[in-house]
Parts: sequence; structure tokens; C-alpha cells
Amino acid sequence: MFNLAFGSARRGIVGNILQLALACASWHSLEALPASAAWFPDPPTVRHYAWHYDLCEACEALAPRPEWMHMAALAGIPKLRLLLSLDESNGPAYSAAPNVLVLTPAALKMDACQLAFVIGHEIVHIAQRHFDEDATAMLVYSGMPSNWTDKGEEALQLADGDFGLALRVSHLWQDQEREADWIGALLAAQSCGCDIESSALAYLRHESEAGGGLAAAHPASMERVLRLLPFAESAKRLAERSPR
Ligand SMILES: [Zn+2]
Repeated sequence: MFNLAFGSARRGIVGNILQLALACASWHSLEALPASAAWFPDPPTVRHYAWHYDLCEACEALAPRPEWMHMAALAGIPKLRLLLSLDESNGPAYSAAPNVLVLTPAALKMDACQLAFVIGHEIVHIAQRHFDEDATAMLVYSGMPSNWTDKGEEALQLADGDFGLALRVSHLWQDQEREADWIGALLAAQSCGCDIESSALAYLRHESEAGGGLAAAHPASMERVLRLLPFAESAKRLAERSPR
């Protein structure tokens, strides 16, 4: 979720590339991207900070797969920037302000629906401007004036070494992770036809069996599963209407 080394970089995920080809077999081009989904929540009316940090020097551009851009379009993100990192130490996938999604070779080997959930989860962080929410919260909870900085990285760095401040903001991070989970599962359903069992729940089961990874940075897997179950029917309906 929250990685101060990358400002608002967030941990994402892991799990077969063959299945990916099968799961999204009808995606051939980036044409005909949809408008944002009517069900997708409006982003919060939060101050927009400037984000300048150099992310992942060793990263290289990654060609987007059509289904990923489809999910970004449903979320109202016109330009999603994809990067490939060989460094797995920050997890297999994470997002960073303002529009960056970083994947690793481990992510690209995941089961198709689990990967769709992981990418959907990170797209939600970007679309809902969670990084701007974090920067605002840092200023508020640290008692700094709102005009102290317009640079998002500077605001986030307030938590460097300040465990008390990180604790005060942690409830917001938990809320953001829950939001990214359920909306990400619905994006995977609509774009790749994945029901919640094959996407989010399968991923979380895999994570809890593997230990560490995302599970170390996000709420416990069982709690996440229980919070996702109320969205199973909605995901099923979206999956049935999926173009894949
Ligand atoms: Zn997250």
C-alpha cells in the first residue's frame, strides 16, 4: 500500500501467462475504449498536489495490454503510464502518483483474473487520488499549514521517521485499501469477465498461503475476503456483460 520510498507508491500483488491469454482472448486492440463506468465512484474533491519524484530509475516502459487500458478507461483515467521493474522488493505491482502503474516479472506471470484484480486495485488508487488524500492528511495530522507545500512528495515525507503520524493516518490507508479491493474486483469483472472468486478471492487465498508480500502491507486476507463478499453478486453481473 503505502511506500514512502516512492512517495505514494502502493504495494500490489502476485500468481500463468497462458491463462491470461485465454482469459482476455477477445482483446485485440486499444480501440473502442469505453467511457468511465456509470457505477465507478466519483473521485474525492481533494486538493491536487504536484508530483515530481523520479520513480524507479531502472524501470522501463511496458506496453499496456488492452484489458488494462479498458480498466483505466472505466475508471476515468485517460493516460495510464505502465512501467516494468525487475526489482521485486516493493512487491509485484504498485501504483504511484499521479498515473503510474509499475509491474514486475512476477506480476506478469500471474493467473489472468488475479492479475486483473491486482491491476484494478492499483487503478483505483490512481483514479480515487489516494495519494492526494494522503498528502492532505499528512499536513492536517502534523499540524502544518495547508499552504506549507504544494509538492506531494514533501507532504508525504512528513511521516518519515514519525511513527505517531503514520499511526494517525493509518485508518485512512485502511479505508483506501478496502475501496481499492472492491472497486478493483468490479473492474476485473467488467473488463475481463472475472468473478470475484477467480480474481480477488483467489489472489487473497494465494497471498495468505504464500505469506508476506502484499499481506504484510495490507489488512489481513480474511478481513479483506469478508469485506469483498457483499460485492460478489455485482461482480457476477458485470462479468456476464463483459466483452471478453
Ligand atoms: Zn493497495
